[in-house]
Amino acid sequence: MPLTMFDTALFSACYLTGRQRWLEQLTKLSDPVQYLPYPCAGYGPDHEVLITDTAWIGAEDASNVLVIISGTHGIEGFAGNAVELDWLRLLADGTVIIPDDTALLMIHALTPWGYAWQRRCDADGVDLNRNIVDFSKALPNNSGYEQLRSALFIFDAQQRQAAFTEFEQQHGRDAFERAISAGQYTDPSGPFYGGRAPAHGRRVTEELIQRYALASRDLAVIDVHTGLGSYGYGEIICDHEPDSPATAMAKSWYGDSVMLPLLGTSTSVPKTGLLDFAWHSIMNQRSCYITLEFGTYATHELFEVLLQDHLLWSKKTDGVNEEAKREHRKLMRHHFCPDDKAWQEMVLFRARQVIRQALHGVSS
Ligand SMILES: [Zn+2]
Repeated sequence: MPLTMFDTALFSACYLTGRQRWLEQLTKLSDPVQYLPYPCAGYGPDHEVLITDTAWIGAEDASNVLVIISGTHGIEGFAGNAVELDWLRLLADGTVIIPDDTALLMIHALTPWGYAWQRRCDADGVDLNRNIVDFSKALPNNSGYEQLRSALFIFDAQQRQAAFTEFEQQHGRDAFERAISAGQYTDPSGPFYGGRAPAHGRRVTEELIQRYALASRDLAVIDVHTGLGSYGYGEIICDHEPDSPATAMAKSWYGDSVMLPLLGTSTSVPKTGLLDFAWHSIMNQRSCYITLEFGTYATHELFEVLLQDHLLWSKKTDGVNEEAKREHRKLMRHHFCPDDKAWQEMVLFRARQVIRQALHGVSS
């Protein structure tokens, strides 16, 4: 096996390059492709247009569909883009063949604004992965977040950390992580904000589900994320109910590496408004949705880099110049996609493994 089997040159420097390479790779496929772009409002830092690109690869009437999603959390699209490029290359050179009754739906940069600006959220500060709630009803309440809120915006990192430690000692680690990251619907400038209306990525998802009548097909959905968990490991997070047919399906396809937040076995705590829920609601009993989450650094470092990001972008620090934001982008990139060939190889290896399991599972 050649040492260059996993090509870390697939990791691109910016959204624009990643997108161009993705579009170019699409043209090299011999399978039939339906390409649909979904423009997003706004521009990137280099005035580039922002598009969620999608490709349906294979037969239009396929009864099984493998769905690969990248950039749900904008900046996490750096790794997601490389994973999708790698898979497109395997398809193009014939290393992987999609069975006749199966199609691949590839969704690139579901939150393109965040990918281009190297943030996790969209232009309105919305976390797409907390956005799938019924906005016509009372929104989920996160009392822990409200308790911690004043501490989140303490500018001095040491003071902030002391307040966090106090909360954790009183309520426990799990409650602390839920308070910050489970999702909140009251504070647009804060982290893990679910928004007040369906975000771009949710609208695209719902349109694709309609467009391709996905409720009437068997689905294997893989949503690629980074930034939580052990360095380089791709954890399979399953947010279906533990005793559901979908969880049984996930275990039969992916084996013992399936982890469930609802059972406390995952590095992720249970959350509100996950993108998963847009798919769970239309899935039949032979389908399942997983998050493939690649770890980088410790959870407290994730919170720190995100809180700094929200501080810089919040109105409270209007005096902060653009240079500080530019500098912080490097730290964001470092947390969500380390410039380390070993980490990148681990991502490519594990993604191939999990996508292959999904393809085999949904096709059989
Ligand atoms: Zn994520």
